[in-house]
Amino acid sequence: MAENLKPSSGYAPVIGLEIHVQLKTKSKMFCDSPNNPDETAPNKNICEICTGQPGTLPVANREAVRLAVIVGQALNCRIEEYSKFDRKNYFYPDLPKGYQISQYDRPIAQNGYLDIEVPGENGGSASKRIRIRRAHLEEDAGKNIHPEGADYSLVDFNRAGTPLLEIVTEPDIASAKEAKIFLQELRNIIRYIGAGSADMEKGTMRLEPNISVRKPGQLELPAYKVEVKNINSFRFAESAIEYEIARQAEILKEGGMPKQVTMGWNEKAGQTMEQREKEEANDYRYFPEPDLPILHFSKEYLEEALASIPELPAQKRARFKREYGLPDADIRNLTEWKELTEFFEEAISELDELAGKALPLKFAKMAANWCLQDFSALLNAAKINPLESKVTPHNFAELIKLIEQSKISATAGKQVLAKMFELGGEPSRIMEDLGLAQVSDAAVIEQAINKVVSENAKAVADYKAGLQKSFGFLVGMAMKELKGKGNPQVVNDLLKKKLE
Ligand SMILES: [Zn+2]
Repeated sequence: MAENLKPSSGYAPVIGLEIHVQLKTKSKMFCDSPNNPDETAPNKNICEICTGQPGTLPVANREAVRLAVIVGQALNCRIEEYSKFDRKNYFYPDLPKGYQISQYDRPIAQNGYLDIEVPGENGGSASKRIRIRRAHLEEDAGKNIHPEGADYSLVDFNRAGTPLLEIVTEPDIASAKEAKIFLQELRNIIRYIGAGSADMEKGTMRLEPNISVRKPGQLELPAYKVEVKNINSFRFAESAIEYEIARQAEILKEGGMPKQVTMGWNEKAGQTMEQREKEEANDYRYFPEPDLPILHFSKEYLEEALASIPELPAQKRARFKREYGLPDADIRNLTEWKELTEFFEEAISELDELAGKALPLKFAKMAANWCLQDFSALLNAAKINPLESKVTPHNFAELIKLIEQSKISATAGKQVLAKMFELGGEPSRIMEDLGLAQVSDAAVIEQAINKVVSENAKAVADYKAGLQKSFGFLVGMAMKELKGKGNPQVVNDLLKKKLE
């Protein structure tokens, strides 16, 4: 708790996060109804179990348990040998059983941490450790729908019983910016593992920050905390946290004490609004779920799970720096998008083969630039991921090689990439079909230069008299003669030689 024992110099926010991640499994947490977050027809993926019919019994989803264990391990948590499910009792129309199956005192994972890169002094970055208190499995509730103007409400149970992993941090986060960095890193870890889509906009990752503020000089944690709900984007998360910090600091400055409440973020109003007084754990009357066995994790099971964790974003960033020497910003942007990272690495291995020897670093830099700029722009415009596009890593690598060898100009390369994106196909063929091949043939270029020199006697004389800009004019004329496809370096060299 050392972090919290430093006295604050101003009004200092203390932020803990509760994150719900919908796990990517074929079926729901305790029944075999499909777990499909994209289903739009209401009450399609339901059965007797997830609608809470009397006499039905739950069966825990093996894959959901495995994913929870792996995410827990990736977050450096301790996984105890035994874990169990509990009933959390509350009444709400979207919860037909009258209780939610969750985990209370024996969560799957506890006492972990995630190190994040936060802005440090002098524009650099610093590593900060955010402790993870616990991660536990539970089932989601259905969705209440309130049709506009109607005097009734509807319930859609498609989401009822889908598996959620709830991840709870210690209050180690000190700003909205840090919260955002933590969430992005967590999202990337979930995606790299393949445990879920962790998409805040689609609701497969949901955030409930709890926020309180310490007064200047205050050592201990505040005696209250305010939970904020209804946050469904990274932008809302930042805005809601910043709004709450300012609101609470204002109350403290006036000598008051903020109430312990649950607030909802209202994006239209740009502010949080009080929803209800916060429940205490004993309001939920937790007790062990009698219909499910205790979970027992053998040593072998945990070792196997640990071994199945793929390279995580932080490790990948370090390797990209070591192997490709890319700038930090490029590395961060590449690794933010898992599929783009995979595409980039496949293209690099293709380039390795094309180069026929150890890959020069400049190829990696070029491939990264083309991935992050032109290729990303095309992908974003079409709203698809790199692995769904018609551009194969092999063809992409070939294009990079054509540009690097000056067989095609960068400008023409953009046209070729756009064509590859639209129709697929090999860049060399597209380059020829579009007549974009760059002319490097000395004989062809010399012929153009001879013509330009004989037709522009005055510019030639001016250049020989020391007027440098005439040279640029002559290069321009030669390029025009070559229909813009002359290799600029070769044109320059041959023209200089001719004028000597
Ligand atoms: Zn079901």
